[in-house]
Amino acid sequence: MTQTLLVLGSANADLVVEVGRRPAGGETVLGGDTVVLPGGKGANTAVAAARVGASVALVGAVGGDGYGSLLRESLESSGVDTALVKTSSRPTGIAYITVTPDGENSIVVSPGANADVSLSDVDALSFDGAAVLTCSLEVPLETVVHAIGAASRAGVRTVLNLSPVAELPAETLRQLTVLIVNEHEAAQLASDWRSLLELGPSSAIVTLGSRGAAVVQESGIVEVPAIEVDEVVDTTGAGDAFAGALSARLAEGDDLVQAARYAAKVAALSVTKVGAQPSYPTAAEVG
Ligand code: ATP
Repeated sequence: MTQTLLVLGSANADLVVEVGRRPAGGETVLGGDTVVLPGGKGANTAVAAARVGASVALVGAVGGDGYGSLLRESLESSGVDTALVKTSSRPTGIAYITVTPDGENSIVVSPGANADVSLSDVDALSFDGAAVLTCSLEVPLETVVHAIGAASRAGVRTVLNLSPVAELPAETLRQLTVLIVNEHEAAQLASDWRSLLELGPSSAIVTLGSRGAAVVQESGIVEVPAIEVDEVVDTTGAGDAFAGALSARLAEGDDLVQAARYAAKVAALSVTKVGAQPSYPTAAEVG
């Protein structure tokens, strides 16, 4: 393994269709043409990191179907190493997304192959040369817990984007270098941001949407303002862009506040374009 960043998480095909209104039970409505987009929190995070120049491998699973090939191609075209993306006997994970004219999404996620990312996949990992492991939660929780333990024992820094909030063993929380949550998730976990550290991680980042992010460390809280953009087009995947870019910079040796400032730039650029992965900027675009 030569990649300095390992991302463990999901890869999904997002099937998006516009509808005038949502069907009620037993009803059929006609929608627009289906748009197929590469998604999944793990894949998004890995792509965001690769686009800004990280050497990154995704640890995950897709099915042996057409969507699986499409997701692999999309990851590889962004420079993500897919050698650790296994082909499962289950179908590729799919998010069925309907969008109504008011812009609201309704989503059904079928995890499929993502549910097969297992303890043995983690046991097969070599952390040689890795600086950072970043995990998100659309794969089995026990696999994430196992991976964080293994990375921490190997001296690899660990980042967890805890979205949605799930209950983690106290030991896993103590093994985290950086816990990333948005402000709603932070409120579910602790009474104030400083108290997030009492759960065990060495540091925490609370993302605050258009207000930026807060970096919480023993030494205090540093607010990282959002970069103002001319027009917010689509915030889908902004959180994954932030996590990916932050991990990329941490793997390069930035300190946490420097990495968060860079991640805020990447995430801001991502909201100016449609989609998640297609909206992620390159290092040259970040400047
Ligand atoms: P999502 O679930 O939509 O991916 P999230 O809730 O995990 O997002 P947010 O806090 O909404 O995460 O956004 C992540 C980061 O993206 C923020 O910390 C900020 O840096 C950037 N960001 C989000 N919205 C905007 C915006 N309107 N303008 C500039 N930057 C933004």
